[in-house]
Amino acid sequence: MNEEHLSCVDCGARYPCALIYECAACGDILELVRDEKSTARLDGLISERVSLGEGETPLLRAPDDFLAEIGFSGRLWFKDETRNPSGSFKDRHVAAALTRAIALGANGVVCASSGNAGASAAAYAARAGLPAIIVVPQRTPLEKMTQIGAYGAQLIKVEGHYSNSYDLALRIAREAGYVNLTTTYINPYGTDALRVVGRELSDQLNGDVPDWVLVPTGAGPLVKGVVQGFADKAGGMPRVVAVQAEGCAPVVDAYDKGLSAVTAWGEPTTIASGISDPLIGYEKDGSYTLRLVRETCGVAIAVSDDEIRAAMRRLAAGTGIFAEPTAASSVAAAEKLIAAGIIDRKASIVCMITGHGFKDFKVYREMDMRETSVAAGASLDGLLGERCREDAAP
Ligand SMILES: [Zn+2]
Repeated sequence: MNEEHLSCVDCGARYPCALIYECAACGDILELVRDEKSTARLDGLISERVSLGEGETPLLRAPDDFLAEIGFSGRLWFKDETRNPSGSFKDRHVAAALTRAIALGANGVVCASSGNAGASAAAYAARAGLPAIIVVPQRTPLEKMTQIGAYGAQLIKVEGHYSNSYDLALRIAREAGYVNLTTTYINPYGTDALRVVGRELSDQLNGDVPDWVLVPTGAGPLVKGVVQGFADKAGGMPRVVAVQAEGCAPVVDAYDKGLSAVTAWGEPTTIASGISDPLIGYEKDGSYTLRLVRETCGVAIAVSDDEIRAAMRRLAAGTGIFAEPTAASSVAAAEKLIAAGIIDRKASIVCMITGHGFKDFKVYREMDMRETSVAAGASLDGLLGERCREDAAP
């Protein structure tokens, strides 16, 4: 008897583990179902797990000054996924999906990405010595594309939004026989690895369940990861918030209208490239994510680019965490939900910080910085701010 299999999240059809990406009966999402014994069995099968040391990221408590600034008296933590090897939580997904791909005989990988998943796939393919093709929208931040190129992957830039890249990666996977590492729900082995995020949160909180977990959300596998991880721990379920940008909010739109089916977004316009996913052709991913959010009694909320910028600044200057725009959207949403009274001011909250600020400098460079250029040997007159002089006074 098989100890693990793939199962359709909609019709429940079962399939043996293979490199398949959707339910043959209904076209919906496949998930990996296994028992603990099968984990050991898989570990035995795979002599070399592809890893760069992903996961086990820190859970950082927000400083009191930060809480005071946002008028919050509860407990707030940041799950700092920027610490993963390529700088985003995607490394968890890609490490697992690539390890499984190799066990099933992969000769190369392809990944459609808004940047982070592509950088991750390129890094792990380099580690494993496999060829990689990474497909990104032309407007992807330069830093992310540079990172992908540095790892030696073939970078293909596609006109228009992310869904165009998604479609091209599907065709490359079919044509070249490459494994598709795209980090929507398409690769069930990658999605499954994200449950470790929920388990880590539970462990880091000593088994306590936070009231809310806020997750920057494109297609939404990280929402599933948080939900599954807390379900694994069986200690209770936080309310999960799917956070999107106002300029690309298909899941929030369906949530606000009380619908169960998510409709694709038109043209995304947001600085949050990592969640700029219109879901065209895989709207089912958004519908599934929304179903999970509702099952936790959570909410879906959109934040504006200005709210994201403010949160990036507050996060960097107020906590020392350098986050890309997408990653700071969870913090912007927390502030917004607290201000609206939806999150109680005494609640316990975890914000997922999904990607590093190094990945998208442009937004920071457009902010005002406290910087001055001086000649060598310049006088200090007028150079030090008032506060410095006061501090130095006897
Ligand atoms: Zn099905």
